[in-house]
Amino acid sequence: MTTPSAAGNGKRQITDVDALEILDSRGRPTLQVAVTFAHSTTGVAGVPSGASTGSKEAVERRDGDASRYRGLGVLGAVSSVQGEIAGRLRGQSWRDLAEIDAALIELDGTPNKARLGANAIVGVSMACARALARAERRELWDWLTPAGVQPRLPVPHFNVVNGGVHAPNPLDFQEFMIAPVGAPSFPEAVRTGAEVYAALRGLLAGKGHATGLGDEGGFAPQLAEPEEVLSLLVTAIGEAGYVAGQDGVAIALDPAASEFRGEDGRYQVAGQKLTSAEMIERYAQITQRFPVWLIEDGLAEDDWDGWAELTARLGDRVQLVGDDLFVTNPVIIAEAIGRGVANAALIKVNQVGTVTETLEAMATCRRGGYAQFVSHRSGETTDTFIADLATGSGCGELKTGAPARGERVAKYNRLLEITATQPGLPYGLPGS
Ligand code: PGA
Ligand code: ZN
Repeated sequence: MTTPSAAGNGKRQITDVDALEILDSRGRPTLQVAVTFAHSTTGVAGVPSGASTGSKEAVERRDGDASRYRGLGVLGAVSSVQGEIAGRLRGQSWRDLAEIDAALIELDGTPNKARLGANAIVGVSMACARALARAERRELWDWLTPAGVQPRLPVPHFNVVNGGVHAPNPLDFQEFMIAPVGAPSFPEAVRTGAEVYAALRGLLAGKGHATGLGDEGGFAPQLAEPEEVLSLLVTAIGEAGYVAGQDGVAIALDPAASEFRGEDGRYQVAGQKLTSAEMIERYAQITQRFPVWLIEDGLAEDDWDGWAELTARLGDRVQLVGDDLFVTNPVIIAEAIGRGVANAALIKVNQVGTVTETLEAMATCRRGGYAQFVSHRSGETTDTFIADLATGSGCGELKTGAPARGERVAKYNRLLEITATQPGLPYGLPGS
């Protein structure tokens, strides 16, 4: 590749690495990272942050200084970037992102990126990816497309009702999403999502519910029973003029079950204590009654036996996505594939901590026939990296919140922009 910024040996030199403390969408500190390669090609990234995190996730570095931001400051992580990471990367020439990410992992030296901070490392990795794509004068989604993979615009999964740790309501299930699987194009899918969201607002208001929003932009009504919310969704889909179901607007759930499994191993849903088997039965009934096509983290991350059971029971007709279960970790995903646990993985770049490991996790899924569901975090910035990742990977599925709130809408708008500039890209689930 002969581009102005490529050295004669095909390597590219990093000339500057910098970071600053900014705010995420919950008003908590996070990092913005900028990496510059020779000839002034800069990539900038905003780092997301989760609230319902898996225990095996790469670990954020937070200051713990109670006098600033209730201990959540990230000045230590900023100094990781400006100090050790800049010292390692700057002035050196790099063959590719994999080489840079490997150097970051080695420099950190811990299995979970806790020393330098996964928030520092992932910001540098994302910024490098952007800068390298720019240096090659390619769109990020195109640069991220693996050899032999057809890029496609993903089905947006709009999280329209929030519960769990994302909203102060009695709803134990964390996310209720609508997925315009049957839309003819990405812009039509966005229109569908926004129209159903508006219909749902009217429906909730009409029933006297507050229409304030949870962390991901969904409504947060004072409801406890998941089935009650599902009925409302089906009504809203119909009122907006769409068909609820796999041909039109399907529903997806992220109960985030690790968050409501008690010490006794029982799942606590709307005041009831359920065993793993009872929880599976509940999901079986839910999928009979409602057009739920996907369930993410239906069971807890340490309930692998339950997961195997759930997969055997519903895996042939429902996409079962591991989030806290897999933490975007290629090694854990490979183990799950071997054991027949789940049939899809949630993909969060900051959960594993580098772009290269994220791409490895997705490649592991492809080889094992597992779907990949690219995801935002509940704490976000206006960074749109995941829109490009979802498109370039060809996985066909993305969740990035409601069609509301700037940090959520930024991703959907980036996909509208990609559609406008690349009208030939297919939309929808692979094979659709
Ligand atoms: P988090 O939640 O970003 O708060 O971890 C998202 C999810 O569970 O999918
Ligand atoms: Zn989840």
